[in-house]
Amino acid sequence: MKRPTLKDVLRSVSSFLLFFLTVGFIVSCCMMLFVRILADTMDLTITPDNVGTAAKVTFWNVVLITFLFKFADYIRRKIMVERPTKIITEATEKIMSGDFSVRIKPMESSGMEGFNQIAMAINQMAKELSSVETLRTDFIANVSHEMKTPLAVMQNYGTLLQAPDLSDEKRMEYAKGVTDGSRRMADMMTNILKLNRLENQQIYPQVSEFDLGEQLCECLLQYENIWEKANIEIETDIAEDVKVKADAELLGHVWNNLFSNAFKFTPAGGTVTVSLTATDHHAIVKVTDTGCGMTPEVGAHIFEKFYQGDTSHSVQGNGLGLALVKRVIDIMQGEIGVESAVGKGSTFTVRIGRG
Ligand code: ADP
Repeated sequence: MKRPTLKDVLRSVSSFLLFFLTVGFIVSCCMMLFVRILADTMDLTITPDNVGTAAKVTFWNVVLITFLFKFADYIRRKIMVERPTKIITEATEKIMSGDFSVRIKPMESSGMEGFNQIAMAINQMAKELSSVETLRTDFIANVSHEMKTPLAVMQNYGTLLQAPDLSDEKRMEYAKGVTDGSRRMADMMTNILKLNRLENQQIYPQVSEFDLGEQLCECLLQYENIWEKANIEIETDIAEDVKVKADAELLGHVWNNLFSNAFKFTPAGGTVTVSLTATDHHAIVKVTDTGCGMTPEVGAHIFEKFYQGDTSHSVQGNGLGLALVKRVIDIMQGEIGVESAVGKGSTFTVRIGRG
Protein backbone atom coordinates (compact mmCIF):
# COMPACT_ATOMS: atom_id res chain seq x y z
CA MET A 1 0.00 0.00 0.00
CA LYS A 2 1.16 3.58 -0.77
CA ARG A 3 2.43 5.54 2.28
CA PRO A 4 0.69 8.98 2.75
CA THR A 5 2.94 12.01 2.08
CA LEU A 6 3.11 15.14 4.27
CA LYS A 7 0.97 16.94 1.70
CA ASP A 8 -1.72 14.22 2.01
CA VAL A 9 -1.65 14.50 5.81
CA LEU A 10 -1.94 18.32 5.74
CA ARG A 11 -4.78 18.10 3.25
CA SER A 12 -6.78 15.66 5.39
CA VAL A 13 -6.09 17.69 8.62
CA SER A 14 -7.33 20.89 6.96
CA SER A 15 -10.42 19.14 5.58
CA PHE A 16 -11.13 17.74 9.07
CA LEU A 17 -10.74 21.23 10.60
CA LEU A 18 -13.04 22.72 8.00
CA PHE A 19 -15.52 19.94 8.72
CA PHE A 20 -15.45 20.52 12.54
CA LEU A 21 -15.79 24.29 12.19
CA THR A 22 -18.64 24.01 9.67
CA VAL A 23 -20.52 21.53 11.87
CA GLY A 24 -19.90 23.78 14.94
CA PHE A 25 -21.11 26.87 13.07
CA ILE A 26 -24.25 25.20 11.66
CA VAL A 27 -25.25 23.62 14.97
CA SER A 28 -24.64 26.94 16.84
CA CYS A 29 -26.82 28.83 14.32
CA CYS A 30 -29.58 26.21 14.72
CA MET A 31 -29.28 26.50 18.49
CA MET A 32 -29.53 30.29 18.40
CA LEU A 33 -32.57 30.12 16.14
CA PHE A 34 -34.15 27.64 18.52
CA VAL A 35 -33.39 29.82 21.60
CA ARG A 36 -34.75 32.87 19.85
CA ILE A 37 -38.04 31.18 18.97
CA LEU A 38 -38.22 29.81 22.51
CA ALA A 39 -37.63 33.31 23.97
CA ASP A 40 -40.30 34.83 21.71
CA THR A 41 -42.82 32.16 22.63
CA MET A 42 -42.15 32.34 26.36
CA ASP A 43 -41.76 36.10 26.36
CA LEU A 44 -38.18 36.02 27.67
CA THR A 45 -35.65 38.77 27.17
CA ILE A 46 -32.26 37.73 25.83
CA THR A 47 -29.36 40.15 25.86
CA PRO A 48 -26.65 40.09 23.14
CA ASP A 49 -24.16 39.12 25.90
CA ASN A 50 -26.22 36.02 26.77
CA VAL A 51 -26.47 35.09 23.09
CA GLY A 52 -22.75 35.59 22.49
CA THR A 53 -21.71 33.36 25.41
CA ALA A 54 -24.30 30.67 24.56
CA ALA A 55 -23.19 30.67 20.90
CA LYS A 56 -19.51 30.31 21.83
CA VAL A 57 -20.15 27.53 24.35
CA THR A 58 -22.36 25.67 21.86
CA PHE A 59 -19.86 26.14 19.04
CA TRP A 60 -16.86 24.76 20.99
CA ASN A 61 -18.93 21.98 22.53
CA VAL A 62 -20.02 20.82 19.11
CA VAL A 63 -16.47 21.09 17.75
CA LEU A 64 -15.17 18.99 20.66
CA ILE A 65 -17.90 16.35 20.38
CA THR A 66 -17.47 16.14 16.59
CA PHE A 67 -13.74 15.76 17.05
CA LEU A 68 -14.22 12.95 19.58
CA PHE A 69 -16.61 11.13 17.28
CA LYS A 70 -14.33 11.60 14.32
CA PHE A 71 -11.38 10.29 16.35
CA ALA A 72 -13.37 7.22 17.47
CA ASP A 73 -14.37 6.65 13.84
CA TYR A 74 -10.72 6.98 12.77
CA ILE A 75 -9.66 4.27 15.24
CA ARG A 76 -12.57 2.06 14.11
CA ARG A 77 -11.58 2.48 10.45
CA LYS A 78 -7.95 1.64 11.24
CA ILE A 79 -8.95 -1.59 12.99
CA MET A 80 -11.94 -2.73 10.97
CA VAL A 81 -11.23 -1.47 7.48
CA GLU A 82 -7.58 -0.59 6.88
CA ARG A 83 -6.01 -3.55 8.73
CA PRO A 84 -8.17 -6.19 6.94
CA THR A 85 -7.69 -4.40 3.60
CA LYS A 86 -3.92 -4.52 4.14
CA ILE A 87 -4.05 -8.25 4.97
CA ILE A 88 -6.19 -9.01 1.87
CA THR A 89 -4.01 -6.87 -0.40
CA GLU A 90 -0.82 -8.58 0.82
CA ALA A 91 -2.37 -12.04 0.35
CA THR A 92 -3.60 -11.33 -3.18
CA GLU A 93 -0.23 -9.81 -4.11
CA LYS A 94 1.46 -13.02 -2.96
CA ILE A 95 -0.99 -15.12 -5.00
CA MET A 96 -0.36 -12.92 -8.05
CA SER A 97 3.38 -13.53 -7.69
CA GLY A 98 2.74 -17.31 -7.72
CA ASP A 99 2.86 -18.11 -3.99
CA PHE A 100 -0.28 -20.26 -3.54
CA SER A 101 0.65 -21.34 0.00
CA VAL A 102 -0.76 -18.12 1.44
CA ARG A 103 -3.73 -18.46 3.84
CA ILE A 104 -5.55 -15.65 5.68
CA LYS A 105 -6.41 -16.21 9.36
CA PRO A 106 -10.03 -15.39 10.15
CA MET A 107 -10.57 -12.62 12.75
CA GLU A 108 -12.29 -13.47 16.00
CA SER A 109 -13.69 -10.01 16.84
CA SER A 110 -17.35 -9.34 16.17
CA GLY A 111 -18.29 -7.30 13.11
CA MET A 112 -15.63 -9.02 11.02
CA GLU A 113 -17.96 -11.53 9.36
CA GLY A 114 -17.58 -9.82 5.97
CA PHE A 115 -13.80 -9.96 6.21
CA ASN A 116 -13.89 -13.61 7.26
CA GLN A 117 -16.05 -14.44 4.23
CA ILE A 118 -13.59 -12.76 1.86
CA ALA A 119 -10.68 -14.49 3.68
CA MET A 120 -12.34 -17.89 3.25
CA ALA A 121 -12.97 -17.25 -0.46
CA ILE A 122 -9.33 -16.19 -0.97
CA ASN A 123 -8.06 -19.22 0.96
CA GLN A 124 -10.23 -21.49 -1.20
CA MET A 125 -9.00 -19.78 -4.35
CA ALA A 126 -5.35 -20.21 -3.28
CA LYS A 127 -6.03 -23.89 -2.52
CA GLU A 128 -7.64 -24.48 -5.93
CA LEU A 129 -4.84 -22.64 -7.72
CA SER A 130 -2.19 -24.65 -5.92
CA SER A 131 -3.87 -27.95 -6.82
CA VAL A 132 -4.16 -26.82 -10.47
CA GLU A 133 -0.46 -25.94 -10.35
CA THR A 134 0.37 -29.37 -8.88
CA LEU A 135 -1.72 -31.05 -11.59
CA ARG A 136 0.09 -29.04 -14.26
CA THR A 137 3.57 -29.87 -12.98
CA ASP A 138 2.55 -33.52 -12.42
CA PHE A 139 1.18 -33.62 -15.95
CA ILE A 140 4.43 -32.34 -17.45
CA ALA A 141 6.45 -34.77 -15.30
CA ASN A 142 4.18 -37.66 -16.34
CA VAL A 143 4.30 -36.84 -20.04
CA SER A 144 8.09 -36.55 -19.95
CA HIS A 145 8.34 -39.82 -18.04
CA GLU A 146 5.95 -41.63 -20.40
CA MET A 147 7.86 -40.37 -23.42
CA LYS A 148 11.20 -41.46 -22.07
CA THR A 149 10.28 -45.16 -22.01
CA PRO A 150 9.38 -45.62 -25.71
CA LEU A 151 12.22 -43.29 -26.70
CA ALA A 152 14.72 -45.41 -24.76
CA VAL A 153 13.30 -48.57 -26.35
CA MET A 154 13.53 -47.07 -29.84
CA GLN A 155 17.09 -45.87 -29.22
CA ASN A 156 18.01 -49.31 -28.09
CA TYR A 157 16.54 -51.02 -31.16
CA GLY A 158 18.09 -48.33 -33.37
CA THR A 159 21.53 -49.13 -31.96
CA LEU A 160 20.96 -52.85 -32.45
CA LEU A 161 19.91 -52.23 -36.05
CA GLN A 162 23.28 -50.61 -36.76
CA ALA A 163 25.15 -53.85 -36.12
CA PRO A 164 26.62 -55.34 -39.33
CA ASP A 165 25.72 -58.84 -40.55
CA LEU A 166 22.25 -58.92 -38.97
CA SER A 167 20.07 -61.82 -39.93
CA ASP A 168 16.81 -60.87 -41.67
CA GLU A 169 14.89 -62.19 -38.70
CA LYS A 170 16.77 -59.98 -36.21
CA ARG A 171 16.53 -56.94 -38.48
CA MET A 172 12.76 -57.41 -38.67
CA GLU A 173 12.52 -57.86 -34.92
CA TYR A 174 14.48 -54.67 -34.17
CA ALA A 175 12.62 -52.67 -36.82
CA LYS A 176 9.35 -53.83 -35.27
CA GLY A 177 10.63 -52.64 -31.88
CA VAL A 178 11.21 -49.16 -33.35
CA THR A 179 7.78 -49.11 -35.03
CA ASP A 180 6.00 -50.30 -31.87
CA GLY A 181 7.74 -47.64 -29.77
CA SER A 182 6.87 -44.86 -32.19
CA ARG A 183 3.26 -46.12 -32.41
CA ARG A 184 3.03 -46.03 -28.64
CA MET A 185 4.27 -42.47 -28.56
CA ALA A 186 1.90 -41.45 -31.33
CA ASP A 187 -1.01 -43.08 -29.45
CA MET A 188 -0.08 -41.22 -26.31
CA MET A 189 0.17 -37.90 -28.13
CA THR A 190 -3.23 -38.50 -29.76
CA ASN A 191 -4.74 -39.25 -26.35
CA ILE A 192 -3.11 -36.20 -24.74
CA LEU A 193 -4.35 -33.94 -27.52
CA LYS A 194 -7.86 -35.41 -27.35
CA LEU A 195 -7.95 -35.04 -23.58
CA ASN A 196 -6.64 -31.50 -23.82
CA ARG A 197 -9.28 -30.55 -26.37
CA LEU A 198 -11.98 -32.22 -24.30
CA GLU A 199 -10.83 -30.47 -21.12
CA ASN A 200 -10.77 -27.09 -22.79
CA GLN A 201 -14.22 -27.79 -24.25
CA GLN A 202 -12.86 -27.25 -27.75
CA ILE A 203 -14.82 -30.31 -28.86
CA TYR A 204 -18.45 -29.46 -29.30
CA PRO A 205 -20.49 -32.67 -29.35
CA GLN A 206 -21.88 -33.40 -32.82
CA VAL A 207 -25.22 -34.84 -31.81
CA SER A 208 -26.99 -37.28 -34.11
CA GLU A 209 -29.45 -40.10 -33.57
CA PHE A 210 -28.05 -43.61 -33.95
CA ASP A 211 -28.58 -47.17 -32.81
CA LEU A 212 -26.43 -47.71 -29.73
CA GLY A 213 -26.59 -51.53 -29.95
CA GLU A 214 -25.21 -51.42 -33.49
CA GLN A 215 -22.39 -49.12 -32.44
CA LEU A 216 -21.45 -51.43 -29.55
CA CYS A 217 -21.36 -54.47 -31.86
CA GLU A 218 -19.25 -52.64 -34.46
CA CYS A 219 -16.75 -51.55 -31.81
CA LEU A 220 -16.64 -55.01 -30.27
CA LEU A 221 -15.98 -56.67 -33.64
CA GLN A 222 -12.77 -54.65 -34.01
CA TYR A 223 -11.35 -56.81 -31.20
CA GLU A 224 -12.20 -60.14 -32.86
CA ASN A 225 -8.56 -60.93 -33.61
CA ILE A 226 -7.59 -60.22 -30.03
CA TRP A 227 -10.29 -62.33 -28.37
CA GLU A 228 -9.71 -65.22 -30.77
CA LYS A 229 -5.95 -65.15 -30.19
CA ALA A 230 -6.39 -64.95 -26.39
CA ASN A 231 -9.19 -67.49 -26.42
CA ILE A 232 -11.54 -65.14 -24.61
CA GLU A 233 -15.22 -65.90 -24.74
CA ILE A 234 -17.63 -63.12 -25.67
CA GLU A 235 -21.15 -62.84 -24.32
CA THR A 236 -23.56 -60.16 -25.40
CA ASP A 237 -26.97 -59.15 -24.13
CA ILE A 238 -27.83 -56.15 -26.25
CA ALA A 239 -31.36 -54.76 -26.30
CA GLU A 240 -32.64 -54.05 -29.80
CA ASP A 241 -33.54 -50.72 -31.26
CA VAL A 242 -32.05 -48.51 -28.53
CA LYS A 243 -31.69 -45.17 -30.25
CA VAL A 244 -29.68 -42.40 -28.60
CA LYS A 245 -29.03 -38.80 -29.55
CA ALA A 246 -25.35 -38.23 -28.84
CA ASP A 247 -21.95 -37.69 -30.39
CA ALA A 248 -21.22 -41.10 -31.94
CA GLU A 249 -17.49 -40.48 -32.33
CA LEU A 250 -16.99 -39.43 -28.72
CA LEU A 251 -19.05 -42.36 -27.46
CA GLY A 252 -16.98 -44.66 -29.70
CA HIS A 253 -13.87 -43.62 -27.69
CA VAL A 254 -15.66 -44.74 -24.53
CA TRP A 255 -16.50 -48.24 -25.80
CA ASN A 256 -13.07 -48.69 -27.39
CA ASN A 257 -11.30 -47.87 -24.15
CA LEU A 258 -13.56 -50.08 -22.03
CA PHE A 259 -13.27 -53.02 -24.45
CA SER A 260 -9.51 -52.73 -24.89
CA ASN A 261 -9.07 -52.66 -21.09
CA ALA A 262 -11.38 -55.65 -20.67
CA PHE A 263 -9.31 -57.68 -23.15
CA LYS A 264 -6.01 -56.39 -21.77
CA PHE A 265 -6.79 -57.35 -18.19
CA THR A 266 -8.52 -60.68 -18.88
CA PRO A 267 -6.29 -63.74 -19.14
CA ALA A 268 -6.74 -66.48 -21.75
CA GLY A 269 -9.86 -68.54 -21.24
CA GLY A 270 -11.76 -65.67 -19.58
CA THR A 271 -15.03 -64.05 -20.58
CA VAL A 272 -15.98 -60.52 -21.57
CA THR A 273 -19.67 -59.66 -21.43
CA VAL A 274 -21.28 -56.60 -22.98
CA SER A 275 -24.86 -55.70 -22.15
CA LEU A 276 -27.17 -52.89 -23.16
CA THR A 277 -30.46 -52.08 -21.46
CA ALA A 278 -32.60 -48.99 -21.76
CA THR A 279 -35.36 -47.05 -20.06
CA ASP A 280 -37.37 -44.28 -21.70
CA HIS A 281 -34.73 -41.71 -20.87
CA HIS A 282 -31.48 -43.60 -20.31
CA ALA A 283 -29.29 -46.24 -21.90
CA ILE A 284 -27.15 -48.42 -19.64
CA VAL A 285 -24.10 -50.24 -20.96
CA LYS A 286 -22.18 -52.75 -18.85
CA VAL A 287 -18.79 -54.15 -19.79
CA THR A 288 -17.87 -57.07 -17.55
CA ASP A 289 -14.71 -59.12 -17.58
CA THR A 290 -13.40 -62.06 -15.61
CA GLY A 291 -9.92 -60.52 -15.47
CA CYS A 292 -7.55 -59.55 -12.67
CA GLY A 293 -9.94 -57.03 -11.08
CA MET A 294 -8.67 -54.24 -8.85
CA THR A 295 -8.53 -53.22 -5.21
CA PRO A 296 -10.80 -50.39 -3.98
CA GLU A 297 -7.66 -48.20 -3.63
CA VAL A 298 -6.84 -48.68 -7.33
CA GLY A 299 -10.52 -48.25 -8.26
CA ALA A 300 -10.56 -44.85 -6.56
CA HIS A 301 -7.89 -43.48 -8.92
CA ILE A 302 -8.47 -45.14 -12.30
CA PHE A 303 -10.14 -42.08 -13.84
CA GLU A 304 -7.13 -39.86 -13.08
CA LYS A 305 -4.73 -38.92 -15.84
CA PHE A 306 -1.67 -41.19 -16.18
CA TYR A 307 -2.81 -43.43 -13.36
CA GLN A 308 -1.94 -47.07 -13.92
CA GLY A 309 -2.94 -49.49 -11.24
CA ASP A 310 -1.64 -52.64 -12.88
CA THR A 311 1.92 -51.90 -13.96
CA SER A 312 2.39 -55.36 -15.46
CA HIS A 313 0.29 -54.15 -18.43
CA SER A 314 1.76 -50.67 -18.52
CA VAL A 315 3.59 -51.36 -21.78
CA GLN A 316 0.19 -51.54 -23.46
CA GLY A 317 -1.16 -48.24 -22.18
CA ASN A 318 -0.39 -44.89 -20.69
CA GLY A 319 -3.06 -44.36 -18.07
CA LEU A 320 -5.00 -41.87 -20.17
CA GLY A 321 -7.77 -44.11 -21.51
CA LEU A 322 -10.16 -43.92 -18.56
CA ALA A 323 -9.43 -40.23 -17.96
CA LEU A 324 -10.64 -39.66 -21.51
CA VAL A 325 -13.66 -41.89 -20.95
CA LYS A 326 -14.62 -39.97 -17.81
CA ARG A 327 -14.28 -36.62 -19.55
CA VAL A 328 -16.51 -37.73 -22.44
CA ILE A 329 -19.13 -39.08 -20.01
CA ASP A 330 -19.00 -35.82 -18.03
CA ILE A 331 -19.52 -33.78 -21.21
CA MET A 332 -22.53 -35.99 -21.99
CA GLN A 333 -23.75 -35.50 -18.42
CA GLY A 334 -23.78 -39.25 -17.97
CA GLU A 335 -22.41 -41.44 -15.23
CA ILE A 336 -19.71 -44.09 -15.08
CA GLY A 337 -18.91 -46.45 -12.25
CA VAL A 338 -16.92 -49.59 -11.63
CA GLU A 339 -17.44 -52.64 -9.46
CA SER A 340 -14.47 -54.90 -9.12
CA ALA A 341 -13.02 -57.70 -7.05
CA VAL A 342 -9.38 -58.75 -7.18
CA GLY A 343 -8.96 -62.02 -9.07
CA LYS A 344 -12.63 -62.12 -10.07
CA GLY A 345 -13.06 -59.32 -12.57
CA SER A 346 -14.59 -55.93 -13.12
CA THR A 347 -17.81 -54.41 -14.38
CA PHE A 348 -17.86 -50.89 -15.82
CA THR A 349 -21.34 -49.39 -15.97
CA VAL A 350 -22.07 -46.39 -18.17
CA ARG A 351 -25.38 -44.57 -18.03
CA ILE A 352 -26.17 -41.90 -20.59
CA GLY A 353 -29.26 -39.90 -21.46
CA ARG A 354 -30.99 -40.89 -24.70
CA GLY A 355 -31.25 -37.22 -25.67
P1 ADP B 1 -4.14 -47.95 -19.17
O1 ADP B 1 -3.66 -47.38 -20.43
O2 ADP B 1 -3.08 -48.19 -18.18
O3 ADP B 1 -5.05 -49.12 -19.37
P2 ADP B 1 -6.53 -46.66 -18.29
O4 ADP B 1 -6.80 -45.25 -17.96
O5 ADP B 1 -7.34 -47.27 -19.37
O6 ADP B 1 -5.00 -46.77 -18.56
O7 ADP B 1 -6.73 -47.54 -16.97
C1 ADP B 1 -6.15 -47.11 -15.75
C2 ADP B 1 -5.98 -48.29 -14.81
O8 ADP B 1 -7.27 -48.80 -14.46
C3 ADP B 1 -5.23 -49.45 -15.38
O9 ADP B 1 -3.84 -49.28 -15.26
C4 ADP B 1 -5.75 -50.60 -14.51
O10 ADP B 1 -5.04 -50.66 -13.30
C5 ADP B 1 -7.17 -50.20 -14.19
N1 ADP B 1 -8.14 -50.90 -15.06
C6 ADP B 1 -8.84 -50.37 -16.08
N2 ADP B 1 -9.69 -51.29 -16.63
C7 ADP B 1 -9.52 -52.42 -15.93
C8 ADP B 1 -10.11 -53.73 -15.98
N3 ADP B 1 -11.02 -54.03 -16.89
N4 ADP B 1 -9.69 -54.65 -15.08
C9 ADP B 1 -8.76 -54.34 -14.15
N5 ADP B 1 -8.17 -53.13 -14.04
C10 ADP B 1 -8.54 -52.18 -14.90
